[in-house]
Amino acid sequence: MASLYDRVRNVPAVATRSLLWNPAQKVAAGFFITQEVSMSDYKQMWLDLGLDLTAHDGLLSLLGQAYQDIFLSQKNRPEGMKYFDFVMSEVHGLRVKELMDAKAEGRKVVGSYCVFVPEELILAVNGVSVGLCAGAEFNFDGAEEVLPRNLCPLIKSAFGFKRGLVCPYVEASDIIVGENTCDGKKKAYEVLSPMVKDLYIIDLPQMKSDTGRILLREEYRKFMTKLEDSSGKKITVETLKKGIEITNAKRRAVKRLADLRKADPAPISGIDALLVNQVFFYDDPLRFTGSVNALCDELEERVKKGEGVFPKGTTRMLISGCPMAVPNWKVPFVIETSGAVIVGEESCVGERGTQWLTEDKGNTVDELINNITDRYFKIDCAVFTPNPSRVDHVKEMYNKYNAQGVIHYSLQSCHPYVVESGPVEVALETASIPTLRLETDYSQEDAGQLKTRIEAFRERIQAR
Ligand code: SF4
Ligand code: SF4
Repeated sequence: MASLYDRVRNVPAVATRSLLWNPAQKVAAGFFITQEVSMSDYKQMWLDLGLDLTAHDGLLSLLGQAYQDIFLSQKNRPEGMKYFDFVMSEVHGLRVKELMDAKAEGRKVVGSYCVFVPEELILAVNGVSVGLCAGAEFNFDGAEEVLPRNLCPLIKSAFGFKRGLVCPYVEASDIIVGENTCDGKKKAYEVLSPMVKDLYIIDLPQMKSDTGRILLREEYRKFMTKLEDSSGKKITVETLKKGIEITNAKRRAVKRLADLRKADPAPISGIDALLVNQVFFYDDPLRFTGSVNALCDELEERVKKGEGVFPKGTTRMLISGCPMAVPNWKVPFVIETSGAVIVGEESCVGERGTQWLTEDKGNTVDELINNITDRYFKIDCAVFTPNPSRVDHVKEMYNKYNAQGVIHYSLQSCHPYVVESGPVEVALETASIPTLRLETDYSQEDAGQLKTRIEAFRERIQAR
């Protein structure tokens, strides 16, 4: 079967003129376009970034169709989602132009692949933090020329995008931050290093011990120095407090959104809530926070009126496991077209990544670095051993969001989450929480099989 890479290379020229959507589709979707930038400007920008225009245009065209089928076809979507549709329609256009404008002003763009990279520090040097593309099966053949075949799709996707020259974010990044989390990423960064201009690695502890905490704090101190050297700006108590304030505001907004999903009927679909959590990593933070809060205002009204996107009583699922980077929407789409609604994500693109705030009290940069360390040290990624707090959080979320079942989602060859899924399932089923373990990749080939299993799981829950 042709890979996505082969398919995008064969997309007819007429289809490659669009970003995610062509202008007519944007108008049909009711987008408010506040700034017009001609396509030729983007083309020049993409060329300047060294992108392969044929592959890039084809990729965006196919993603546009997927977005239309998955998101724009939903019924009764909140009006506030139009902002996020617009962001996605311009994710390789206007947002990248904003990054280029920021660079022209001397600001540093810092790309990363993990929620252990503190945005607070990046903002403290007036930098821009962006998540990097790793959510699609694109150019895996190219990735497998330098990596083993049986590596998780997230890592292969990052390499497929880089080697296929289709990710403007990786090309725009002044610094790419890797982190020693799982073995796959840790070793893959060694391969990535010669391909990018400045790869910086943060070492991470493997255990939640006192020495683990000290290591993390020292690594964050070193990262701070790296950012200061690269930007030529000194981090002060004021700039760091500002960074903490902006990042916390973003987290508060998505926590508010999460809280609204407790309602039955659910005021927003899980796939739309996931999209908001994905845009969290790309958008301008102040604009993002304002847009999420505006969406929440609308959802509050919906909850008051008892309105929702699915009928009251629809089976409520919690997702737990590996992060879902854009445009990894397969499993949520299958769940929500199988008679269930997703009411929460125990994931780094979701509550695991955003649930804790950073304490903003402190009179020295050192004290604030301690606060940052305390906050990030709570993240219960499966790379830690042992990792008991993760199961506690899944149970807590199951109760908080009135869920009726947990779908544990692992990417194939992701050893930390695949191995941890067994004990997680046992612990949840022992607590009478129905649990379904899924292991999948970025292809669409198992979508039918997934649907059959998810429908059977939903029937099991309904029969209780
Ligand atoms: S799952 Fe672990 S390695 Fe992946 S983004 Fe989250 S914290 Fe980082
Ligand atoms: S999904 Fe798993 S294997 Fe892949 S990068 Fe994340 S932790 Fe590593």
